Amino acid sequence: MTEKHIAADAQGDDAEDFCRMCGFDEYRFWEAGWPTSMICACCGNESGIADMGAKSGSWAGLEGLHAFRGEWVGSGARWWNPRMKPRDWDLLEQLQNIPPVWRTPVPPPADLARRVAERPSYGSLGTETECRICGLSGQVFWRDGTPTETVCLSCGSVSGIDDLGTPGVWAALRGIRARRGYWVAVGAPWAVPAARPAEWDVLAQLARIPDDWR
Ligand SMILES: [Zn+2]
Ligand SMILES: [Zn+2]
Repeated sequence: MTEKHIAADAQGDDAEDFCRMCGFDEYRFWEAGWPTSMICACCGNESGIADMGAKSGSWAGLEGLHAFRGEWVGSGARWWNPRMKPRDWDLLEQLQNIPPVWRTPVPPPADLARRVAERPSYGSLGTETECRICGLSGQVFWRDGTPTETVCLSCGSVSGIDDLGTPGVWAALRGIRARRGYWVAVGAPWAVPAARPAEWDVLAQLARIPDDWR
């Protein structure tokens, strides 16, 4: 993070020279509290569109922004303008340009009982051995349409609690995408660091997310 980001953060309505979705920092995206309608060369977000209405500092105010980011990284984090992509581009490094107030943590599930009760109203792909949030493969997260309440070794999500959703329904995928978007924005930390492969590639893992959950 550079000094200009800290200044923008502290003053609230000052200029933002970073994309709130992906951290790309070559353009001015917000000025004096207004979007510049700049289209990000990296994620393709136009300032004032996907990030409009986002309120820094709380999960509720940022869930939508996290969800857009989660969809983008879940779909391969493709560059809007590939010619601008640096040869040695690092997604997680770029995301660190986003000031912490735009990366508010996921709150613990206060509505745990309700989530468990509502499980039958959501979708599943039968038996699922890839994490819907981060794409880690190998654990049985859902068996025959029932969640196993397995904690993902990588992103730490619990199946049946943090990954409820319905394929094809934007509103019902929001929670999954928001959690994914937040996880990458804080550097994609492993819940069980010892399980992290030495040569780990976050985008290769995200590529394993079944299309229905992207
Ligand atoms: Zn962007
Ligand atoms: Zn996961």
